[in-house]
Amino acid sequence: MALTVPNPVGAIHFDGSPRKLFIDGDWVDAADGATFETVDPATGEVLAEVARGEAEDVDRAVRAARRALDGPWSKLTPSERGRIVHRIGDLIAEHADELAELEALDNGKPMTVAKAADVALSADLFWYMAGAATRLNGSTISPSVPYMPGAEFHAYTLREPVGVVGQIIPWNFPLLMAAWKLGPALATGCTIVLKPAEQTPLSALRLAELAAEAGVPTGVLNVVTGFGEPGAALARHGDVDKVAFTGSTEVGKLIVKAAGETNLKKLSLELGGKSPNIIFDDADVDAAIAGAASGIFFNQGQVCSAGSRLYIHQDHYDRVVEGVSKAAAEIKVGPGLAPDTEMGPLVSREQHERVTGYIKRGLADGARATVGGSAIDGPGYFVQPTVLVDAEQEHTVVQEEIFGPVIAALPFSDIDDLARQANDSVYGLAAGVWTRDISKAHRLAKRLKAGTVHLNSYHVFSAELPFGGYKQSGWGREMGAEVLNNYLETKTVITQL
Ligand code: NAD
Repeated sequence: MALTVPNPVGAIHFDGSPRKLFIDGDWVDAADGATFETVDPATGEVLAEVARGEAEDVDRAVRAARRALDGPWSKLTPSERGRIVHRIGDLIAEHADELAELEALDNGKPMTVAKAADVALSADLFWYMAGAATRLNGSTISPSVPYMPGAEFHAYTLREPVGVVGQIIPWNFPLLMAAWKLGPALATGCTIVLKPAEQTPLSALRLAELAAEAGVPTGVLNVVTGFGEPGAALARHGDVDKVAFTGSTEVGKLIVKAAGETNLKKLSLELGGKSPNIIFDDADVDAAIAGAASGIFFNQGQVCSAGSRLYIHQDHYDRVVEGVSKAAAEIKVGPGLAPDTEMGPLVSREQHERVTGYIKRGLADGARATVGGSAIDGPGYFVQPTVLVDAEQEHTVVQEEIFGPVIAALPFSDIDDLARQANDSVYGLAAGVWTRDISKAHRLAKRLKAGTVHLNSYHVFSAELPFGGYKQSGWGREMGAEVLNNYLETKTVITQL
């Protein structure tokens, strides 16, 4: 199948000029002058040369962040800090078209979707975190001390920034993942070295510029672009107090190892997923079909919480498979900048090979594609939205994260078997349940080992809702009030009266 949509309409803001590292308030080359190319996945053409940071650059950025931790940043009141964080949200909203365009160019996602989802959620995250800056309160405690009879104490806790944090992010939501990380770190008064994904460095660099414009002081936010090495350098750096990582479970384990072998820095990890989306016999089937389709095809399926395992009650199996397949066939695939595009290319050649490799593996193992099932001829890294049937629970396409627009549909009849199959995964990031029976829905929500359970909905993200995983989907939570714990130390202060 060849693409029938036009080539990109042309960038509105992006000028293709080389991008540098942002360290200590300056735009600088990598210490060894190295660069890499970031590519438009819709065409395979080079978008820009970007500085390729290595360990030496990370070290320079960490030193800047350490100095900034005790600088003017630490003297700001929480309200002043909150206002700066709020202003970043305002600037994101003011530059929505430009940022959405950068995401469409660098990641491939539809610009319309980037503006409505990625950019809007990013602004909202900063606005939410702005309020959090003035609510980082400890508590007052009257402790009981059994071995000191008669003694009286007054105690309280302080919530203090954890310090210099390294933040390593993936390419699937480049701006939003930066926002999820930077918002709480800034709100709590930390200083930061951010390492964007090598596939999508552009929007994080622009965000750093906007953060400086919003009033984030020099050295508080540093950005070191590059491949895995600057990420690894952050993970093993002895003067980094914490690393917040979003990416693959494989790299997450490397980060745990590096932290364990060096200074045992604090870690939070948002990792992979293979989430079940479950449709019962008493569901609103049309709504469930739409939810199943958007649960897997949103963002080209490159969503850690994508509903990639579709469990359908046998009474509706044929109808749901037909409905999701029809929705897949109708998706308008094209370049992210084309205004009518609903699904863009995958982010890179490697991702394209990975996803098409999984489809081939699924078909070889005995699955059948009711729609899609192969790549779309280039240029660009396009893949057909694909629905697989006849796969078994133990098949690779049901067990491993594909991270593309590929869903495996499986029938079920018994709720206990279903619950067991839904939890039969090394991951535990998200789940969806479609039913009109509220007791069944809430009972199953309790049984599912997942950080987020959607009932009669899917892919509901909000700055107010904690997000993260059970099992090998990660440690800790992003967003909501809970993410603040990732960036705070608790200090207990005790007085004997
Ligand atoms: P990845 O793990 O390959 O890369 C993520 C980041 O880590 C990139 O910035 C990369 O340069 C860096 N990195 C690579 N090697 C490193 C090393 N040895 N040490 C430190 N950093 C290193 O993942 P990816 O392919 O970019 O993203 C896809 C994965 O991310 C999927 O598994 C997906 O589920 C996961 N993800 C999870 C969430 C979540 O919130 N749970 C969100 C988005 C993506």
